[in-house]
Amino acid sequence: NPVIVAIDGPSGTGKSSTSKAVAAKLGLSYLDTGAQYRAITWWMLANGIDVDDPAAVADCAGKPSIVSGTDPLDPQISVDGVDVTTPIRSQQVTAAVSAVSAVPQVRARMVETQRAAAATAAAGIVVEGRDIGTTVLPDATAKIFLTASAEVRAARRSTELKGAVSLAATQEALIRRDAADSGRKTSPLAKADDAIEVDTSELTLDQVVDRVVALVEE
Ligand code: C5P
Repeated sequence: NPVIVAIDGPSGTGKSSTSKAVAAKLGLSYLDTGAQYRAITWWMLANGIDVDDPAAVADCAGKPSIVSGTDPLDPQISVDGVDVTTPIRSQQVTAAVSAVSAVPQVRARMVETQRAAAATAAAGIVVEGRDIGTTVLPDATAKIFLTASAEVRAARRSTELKGAVSLAATQEALIRRDAADSGRKTSPLAKADDAIEVDTSELTLDQVVDRVVALVEE
C-alpha cells in the first residue's frame, strides 16, 4: 500500500522543510497544500477580486487552473500556466491567504485535488497543511502535528524573510494568521486525535526529520 504521511501545524514550525526532507528520504512524492491556497490567493489579487468579500471569492473559486508539482527536490506551482512558485511567498499573498482559504468553495476545490494527488502517487506522498490529518486524508498511514513556541516560529520566519520585516511585526502577523486559520468554521487548523505531536522548538531540522521518518516506519 502507498504510504500517506500527513504533516500539519501552524506556520513557522518547519513543516515545509521537514515534509520535503522526509519525502526525499523515503522516496515519496510531496504536496504543499499551503502553496495551493497561496496560488489561488495570488490569482484573486492579480484579478482584482476583493479577498475580504467571501461571496466574490466563492464566485470565482473554480476559475484558476492550479497545477502543483510533487517533486520534493523541486516543488513548483503554476496558475493558468504561469509559474507562481516565488510570487506566492509575497507579503500581500501571505496577508490575504487566510481570508481566501476560509471560503468553503475554495476549500472544497483544493481538497478534491489534494485527495486526487494522494490517490495517484505510486509510492506514496507526504502532504503538508493545516487540515490534512483531520479532513483531507483522515486514513493517512502516519499523522504528524508540528508545533513550536511563538518566539521560535517568528524567528524562523524572520530568517526566511532575510530581515526585511521586524521580528515583532513578523510575530504579530504570524499570530494573526494562525488565529484566523484556527478560528474558521470549515476545517480549522487542528491536531487530529490520532496525530503525534512533535514540538520542534528545541530540535534541529535533522532531528525533526529523523523523528518523523521513525514515526512513519513504525
Ligand atoms: O503553509 P502555508 O503557511 O504556506 O499556508 C498558507 C495558508 O494557507 C495558511 O495560513 C492557511 O490559511 C491556508 N492553508 C489552509 N489549509 C491547508 C494549508 C494551508 O487553509 N491545508
